[in-house]
This record gives sequence, structure tokens and C-alpha cells, in this order.
Amino acid sequence: MAPERQIFDPDGDVLFILSSTSKLTLEELGLTNQPQPDSPHVLMQVSSKHLMLASPVFKAMLTSPFSEGQTLARTGHVDIELPEDDCVAFTILMNVIHSKGRKVPSVLSLKLLAIVSMLVDKYQLQEIAAVFSDIWIREMALVVTYFYDDTVFYDRNIDVLTHWLLIAWVFRHTVLFEEVSKALVQAARFPLPAVPDEVPIPQSIFDAIDARRMKCLSEIFREVSGWVDHYHEKPWNVSCTGATETPSSVSCTSTTETRRNCDTQVLGSLIRACSVCFIWPTPKRPYTGHSVQGVLERIAELNVISLCDILHPERSNNKGHWVANDILEVCNELYLQGGLDIGVFAKDCAEQDSKGEN
Ligand SMILES: [Zn+2]
Repeated sequence: MAPERQIFDPDGDVLFILSSTSKLTLEELGLTNQPQPDSPHVLMQVSSKHLMLASPVFKAMLTSPFSEGQTLARTGHVDIELPEDDCVAFTILMNVIHSKGRKVPSVLSLKLLAIVSMLVDKYQLQEIAAVFSDIWIREMALVVTYFYDDTVFYDRNIDVLTHWLLIAWVFRHTVLFEEVSKALVQAARFPLPAVPDEVPIPQSIFDAIDARRMKCLSEIFREVSGWVDHYHEKPWNVSCTGATETPSSVSCTSTTETRRNCDTQVLGSLIRACSVCFIWPTPKRPYTGHSVQGVLERIAELNVISLCDILHPERSNNKGHWVANDILEVCNELYLQGGLDIGVFAKDCAEQDSKGEN
């Protein structure tokens, strides 16, 4: 059977030849059933003028000294094989380029949007795709994983977040990039793997996310160990202030000996509680298996009990002398620190591109 021929411009002078097999599953395409293609290829008849206007990459390809450009100039038409490009994502972008807006879907699956983003990056189509990319991101954000108005990611799956990071990066979406990078810092339980060759995210972005995750965890663990040190490094000091924080009640309810015993109780209780949730002894870099979010959830459950709590349950309004709460407060602040600024990476990228051109 002859391959399917998609005509984007009946006078089109460029014929793209792509594999007819998409990289996406039926579910990712939003289909329940699709007939098997008759041919291993799909043909797309397109206009060189539209391509060159939309994309500096196509412009370079279709002008001399490239062989495609020479053929086009000599014969008036050219066939170009694009075996790497996904036919479904490519069709969407050809419709965008040829101003066939009604044929462009407003809702894409996350993986399809990620693949479209990779093609947008490859052919530098950000400008012409801008109107649609805003719609795609907004629709997806509302439907799938991301509450746009609250700017909070609920889906903490690393693959999902990495797809979002790619989309945010390619379309230079400042808010989305900050939020998704923050979610990755909070959710990753391991250093991120190296960016695959075909994914156009600079390695420096993954490195920055890893560095933030590591810094956040190290500060959390330092806060915990700081409290342990506080209690055991100077055992002659007395931290316990009695069953309430007011000096008058201290003097009438607690002797120095009782308060010293209370410190011992807090120290033992703190170490035991931290051991139970795997944050004592202090984990070692790169904190494999620990996410910032997971550690914080465990810290929120820390059960530190003082002797004052035991001797004066009716008076104690500062359970465990507030040690667990103090740790939690500091860690909450660390947790909420912002994500990455896309401007920094975009600037680096632009500088590298201009160096490459010179
Ligand atoms: Zn006490």
C-alpha cells in the first residue's frame, strides 16, 4: 500500500518522510483503537516558505549550501527523510506552521506535549508555537497534575515532574519552571540521573536541582544534630526550664537535679525518635533514599517527651520542651524555599549559543 500522504499545502514543494509508527501508546494519544498503518512511512507535503518563516533550522536546511537547499533550488522540490521525529507530534507542528489552527488539539497528553516540546526545541519553533503552548500548558495544568492558580504540584512522580520541567524549559515558562523545579527538589529521593542525550534540558539544571536537594537535606540534618549536640555536648548546663516557661513556676516545681534529669530524658527521646524515622545517625551524602518531603513528613511526627511532660502532664504546655516543634519550624522554612530561576539558565544558554555561532 502507498504511504499515507498528509497535505498541508497542495502547492507544497517539500515532502517530509517520517516513520508512521508513533512513539506514543494509544492511551497517550487519547485513542482506544487505531488501525495499523499500511505503510512504514507517512508523507507530509509542506511549504518551504512557511517552514523557513517559522523556523531558523528549516531555513538553514532549505537554503544552500545544504544538499536539501541545493536540490530545492535546482528542481523546485525536495524530499526529506526525518526518521527520528514522531509523526503525531510533527503533524501538530505542521498544522501550527501552516496556520491550520482548527486542526491543532487544545489538550495533549503530558508525554505528547513533552515530545512536541522536544521538536519545538529541535526546530526552534517557540515563537510560532507560543499561543498554542500557553493553551496546552494551561489545559494540562488544570486537568492533570498541576493546580495552576495555587501553583502547587500534587503529582510527585519524578518522571512526570521531569516531563513538566522539559515543557517549562522549552517554552521558557517562568512560573511553571520555578514550581516544577521546587517540586523536584522536594520529591527526589536520589540525585537525578544524567539528562538523556535526546532531552534538551541543560545538565546544569539537573545539577542545580540536585545541589538544592542536597543543601536542603544537609541543613535539615544539621538542625537535628544541632539539638542533639546542644543537649549532650555541655552536660553541666541545664536547659529544662520546668513544667512551664515562667520563672516562678520553675522555682516551685523543679529542682536542678530534676531539670538535669529532664534534659537527659529529652536527649534520649530525641535520639530515639530520630532513629525510628531514619534521620539519626545523620545520613551521609548524597542522602540516597531521602527526599526533603519525606524527611519533613517524618519530622512532623517526631515524638520527643520531656520529664516535665511526665511529672506535670497538667502543666506542660511545651511538649518535649518544644524541641520537635523548633526543628519542624526551621525545616518548614527550608522546605518552602523557592525553585530555580529560569532566567539564569536561559542567559547561560544564550551565551553558549552565541559563542557557538562565533
Ligand atoms: Zn523539663
